[in-house]
Amino acid sequence: MKVMVAVKRVLDYNVKPRVKSDGSGLDLANAKMSMNPFDEIAMEEAVRLKEAGVATEVIAVSCGTAQSQETLRTALAIGADRAILVETNADLQPLAVAKLLRALVEKEAPALILLGKQAIDDDANQTGQMLAALAGLPQATFASKVSVQGERLIVEREVDGGAETLSLPMPAVVTSDLRLNEPRYVTLPNIMKAKKKPLETVSAETLGVDVAPRLQTVGVEEPAARKAGVRVPDVSALLNALRDEAKVL
Ligand code: AMP
Repeated sequence: MKVMVAVKRVLDYNVKPRVKSDGSGLDLANAKMSMNPFDEIAMEEAVRLKEAGVATEVIAVSCGTAQSQETLRTALAIGADRAILVETNADLQPLAVAKLLRALVEKEAPALILLGKQAIDDDANQTGQMLAALAGLPQATFASKVSVQGERLIVEREVDGGAETLSLPMPAVVTSDLRLNEPRYVTLPNIMKAKKKPLETVSAETLGVDVAPRLQTVGVEEPAARKAGVRVPDVSALLNALRDEAKVL
């Protein structure tokens, strides 16, 4: 059983984003970039399936500039067998990524396609759903547990009222939630081994996908700065302060 995992290069979650002075987007020059945290979880799950003897091959895929190779090397160090970079300098939006992934799914025919539930840079939470729709595959989003039973995939997912369990025929698309697993630390020997693993590069044009953006970003701005807080000595002072501030009590 082949497993494909989509991993995105994003601004590291510890870095405070800087908005470009013209408000056209974020200034990523010299910023620390990492694998999207939900994609690390998706990759960990794929590697666990391989270690359990369920998956036979794990393929990591990233779409973006040549620098996404770094993200793919991390995926290979976690345990992917090989990697594919769909190289483009275009500003990729979820629909374009979903189309690129569909083209690779057609080529590679994986039984399971794992994605993060969302990328922490655009917070779109769309790519997995769009991929499933475009490829005509069943989907289970926000997975907190994944197992394989014969020809079917059993996925537990957290919903408002509790936990839901789905049974899906494969091939299927699954997006990872935070509680699916705790990704391993990448060790130095595995980073060294990852350098020798195959990393193939294809272009969006070769896959016959039009990646032109369909949405236009009108402006990006910093959130308004928060006012400094005040310390109050006791509950009655707190109530007075709230009364003065909000005039609600
Ligand atoms: P989004 O819909 O943008 O919130 O992203 C959801 C998931 O789609 C991510 O967690 C990744 O698994 C995958 N994804 C999004 N963009 C890319 C990309 N450029 N390359 C590879 N995977 C991506």
